[in-house]
Amino acid sequence: MKSQETIDPVTSETIPTKMKAWEIIKPGSINSETSPLRFTTKPVPTPNRGEVLVKVITCGVCHTDLHVTEGDLPVHKEDLTPGHEIVGRVVKNGPETSRFKLGDRIGIPWLRWTCGVCEYCRAGRENLCPNSRYTGWDHDGGYAEYTTVPEGFAYRIPARFDSATAAPLLCAGIIGYRAFERANVPAGGRLGLYGFGGSAHLTAQIAMKQGIEVHVLTRGKDARKFALQLGAASARGAYDLPPVKLDSAINYTPVGDIVPKALEALKPGGTLAMAGIHSTDIPQLSYPEHIFHEKNLTSVESNTRRDGEAFLTLADRLDIIHPEITEYPLAKADDALRYLSHGDIKGACVLRVSEG
Ligand SMILES: [Zn+2]
Ligand SMILES: [Zn+2]
Repeated sequence: MKSQETIDPVTSETIPTKMKAWEIIKPGSINSETSPLRFTTKPVPTPNRGEVLVKVITCGVCHTDLHVTEGDLPVHKEDLTPGHEIVGRVVKNGPETSRFKLGDRIGIPWLRWTCGVCEYCRAGRENLCPNSRYTGWDHDGGYAEYTTVPEGFAYRIPARFDSATAAPLLCAGIIGYRAFERANVPAGGRLGLYGFGGSAHLTAQIAMKQGIEVHVLTRGKDARKFALQLGAASARGAYDLPPVKLDSAINYTPVGDIVPKALEALKPGGTLAMAGIHSTDIPQLSYPEHIFHEKNLTSVESNTRRDGEAFLTLADRLDIIHPEITEYPLAKADDALRYLSHGDIKGACVLRVSEG
């Protein structure tokens, strides 16, 4: 038995064989009487070839977790543990690993694995890989005390970010950054942000710190106030027009009804990027009002590892963080999801799983 034991490199304690974790039992509304989730005990996973075992410190609570829990995105495995904005320490190296030392603090994002051989992977567009797999969707994620990750898909966390601050950067931040890139904002241009949750806060900071004028359009009064505090040039309702025409816009909401409004707000040649993995249907568009004048409507699918590295470097350099983080203990993950389901929230929700 002793020879099987694994020792935590930070605490020097034996790594247990069982852990606390959340599982989705039956996707459905988080606000219904029968919860789609249960808090349970399950075995600590064993890292496969190329993977490391990570003791989770924090895990961000993301809208995608809500879509998976509520069934908007069908779960890809039974008893799935959600969570894909994970910060933790490497406590065990699986076979054929060499990248991290025991005790290293790493981040585990949404993108868990790509095939490396398809036409998209070979072209540097692994976010479009048809064989890709995702943390907290295809594989158990971070609403748990331990999880595993293929070492090539983890990120080193810059030392200046504490573990609660770093968690939302890993998805909200990286996806927001990719949406920002896809929106093609010209230098010194005007960018509209529809919705002002986690991803949008971070993107707003990236944009403004590079001299771009940001206009926020969102339903929540508090979110509008917060946008102005952060330095947005204007903040109006989600279906209002901004005070000026926009070079680019990003729709961070899952609401397709916003699309005609956002296209109408664009200058000729402007671009609207849909940042969400899920959207309600887009209503009928009028060719002269919404599409003509070379307007572009595009979407964002996941991210490449290159996007992730680029974003974390930029966030480190420009001092980009979530100004407000609300921590929940692991045992209260369902409360955090319920809070998120109520729409416009001011900051990011992060589960505190262990100290570190
Ligand atoms: Zn591929
Ligand atoms: Zn996410």
